[in-house]
Formats: sequence, C-alpha cells, structure tokens
Amino acid sequence: MILEKLRLKREASKNTFFYEHGVDKDGHLIGLFWSDAIGRRNYSVFGDTLSFNPTFRTNKCNMVFDPFTGVDNHWSNVTFASALLANECHTSFEWALGAFDRCMDHPPPCVITDQCLAIKKALPNVWPLAKHRLCMRHIMNKLTGKISPSLACDKVFMKQMKACVWSDYLTEDEFEQNWNAIIEEYQLSDNGWLNDMYTIRKEWIPAYFNDVSMAGLLRTTSRSESSNFYFQHFHRSGDTLVDFMKRYDSAMDRQRNINAQNNKDSEFKFNSITGLKIDKDASRLYTRHLYYLVVEEIEATWHHTRIDDMSLVNDVKHFKVKDSLLNGKVFVVKVRLSDHDVQCDCKHYTRRGYLCRHAFASLH
Ligand SMILES: [Zn+2]
Repeated sequence: MILEKLRLKREASKNTFFYEHGVDKDGHLIGLFWSDAIGRRNYSVFGDTLSFNPTFRTNKCNMVFDPFTGVDNHWSNVTFASALLANECHTSFEWALGAFDRCMDHPPPCVITDQCLAIKKALPNVWPLAKHRLCMRHIMNKLTGKISPSLACDKVFMKQMKACVWSDYLTEDEFEQNWNAIIEEYQLSDNGWLNDMYTIRKEWIPAYFNDVSMAGLLRTTSRSESSNFYFQHFHRSGDTLVDFMKRYDSAMDRQRNINAQNNKDSEFKFNSITGLKIDKDASRLYTRHLYYLVVEEIEATWHHTRIDDMSLVNDVKHFKVKDSLLNGKVFVVKVRLSDHDVQCDCKHYTRRGYLCRHAFASLH
C-alpha cells in the first residue's frame, strides 16, 4: 500500500519525487528511501555537509527512521531526504547511502555521524572521497561519565578541556600540546576512554577539519539530536507506514513554513547596527541570522584585534593581526591588491562562510 502511494506521488510530481525500496528474499520490505523536489533542490544548494544518523523505530513496522539533515542559509536544520531501514547493519546503511547518491546531484564532501560502527563501515564504500566526522557533542556528552566524579565537578578542568576540544582556532599541533598538557596535569594517562578519543582525534576535533568547506556549521549543535527530537514530536506509537508518512509530511511542511518565514523576515531591510558601510552591505547581503553573526565579527574587530605588522610582498599585503579574545594569538591575513582576495590563516571563512574579525581589521 505504501509503495503504491509513493508511486502515485512520483507520477503526480512528474518524477521529481524520488523513492527506492528494498525487499528481502521473502518479499518483506527492508528499506525505503525518499526525497521530493524541494529536498533535492535544498541539497543542491546547502549540501556542503550532511548529518546522517539512525533515530527512533517506527512502532508498528519496527523500522528505524534515518533522516539526512543539513543546515540552511538561516542555520536551521533542513531535511534533504529520509530512509526507513529494517535493521542497522552496514549493508542496510550502504543501501540507504547508495539511494541518496542516486537521488542527488553530488556526493557530500563531509558527512557527520554519531559513533556508529556500521555507518563507519558503510560510508567509504559509497563515498570514498567524503570526509567522515564524528559528532563532537555526542562524544563530549560522555566525558563526565568517563572520569572521576570529583574531576567531573572540577570547573577548572572542564573549562580547560572544553576550550581545548571546542576551539576552532587551534592548529593540529596546538590541540595536541594542549590535550597532552591537560592529561599530564590531571594524571589521566591511564584513562582508557580519553586515550581512545585521542587516538581518533582526526575524526572529531575541529583542527583536523579546517580545510573542509562549511565544516563549522555542523559542530555548533548536534544536528542529529535536534532532528531526532523534531521528528519524534510528530511520531505516534502504533503508526502504520502510511500514518507515519502522513505525519512526516506534516513535519516537513512545518519545517518549510519556518524556512519561508525566515526568508520573509530577511527580506525586510534591517537597520545597520554599527552604521559602518561594510555593516550596511552585510545587512543587504546576508539573511538576518547570518547578518548578526557578521556584525559580531565586525564589532570584535574594533574591540579585540590589533594590527601588529604589515608588509607588502609583490601584489599581496601581509597583515599580522593580534586577537585579544584568543589570548593574543597572532593570525596572518593576506590581501591581494589586484582583486581584493582576502585570506586569513584562521580559516574562519572556509569553515563558516563569512569573514573573520582579522580579515575585517585588514580591510579597514
Ligand atoms: Zn581570521
């Protein structure tokens, strides 16, 4: 029955609605994947990074719901596609990822998941070039349960650990030095879990993803957790597959209405906060949410950066910019005079898609 409904939906959409299903040798449904025209278009626009995780089981058919989630231009969750799977073995995930690959116009450059061994095994078989990253929040949520209760209550330790793990501005060497200093200071070299997390540091620590475009978007909150919570709110125990699909469509309508409202809100001209010309340009160019983030960087330029040195090498100005928010760390910004190309070695623009305070300081 559900397959017939999906077939009709595809026909009505003139084949822009995509679905695939898998069956076992007895003809039982073991996998269902679908995405519509809007989901496919959203992935085409916002598909720099992809979060993929199994969530809850739909009750009656006992299949696992697996949404494919990204971040839109308002930094809200956007669901590109979804799958229902009968089990959580790597072959099932491989099938779902393969269906996603056949549905969409490009493979994801970066995929973020929880620590699921079956997905870890499936990913390189479908997307060998995609960077696989583990959800930082998912790992850090376990920290207090893996250390002594007294250390878990030690505010200084927790602050040091969080600063070391969450900082976007540390290089690989700096992260490793800071981590090892903490381990030594608190005598944690025998902690097996921390040792394991250090061994897999290249799979979750920001320093190792600095060159991945827009990789900063999927670390700020756990996209899978919020996506799980969002869809679970619509789910009812005892739902049939057809019921589930109806509720899913309602959830998607709601998500898209919020996006439409965000787009509308961003169309209104909002007053420039600082009154600077660059701020006014930002207010025209960015969505409301992004504009406030950009202004934060512009304001931080005046309050927290200082140009220590400037030199001209051929066509490129080199600025050394000191950042008081990061304990006086110095970043090098290169501004090419011929075309005004700006690059800061903090890589903020690559990670987040808008300029950092160091770049704004150099453009002043
Ligand atoms: Zn920078």
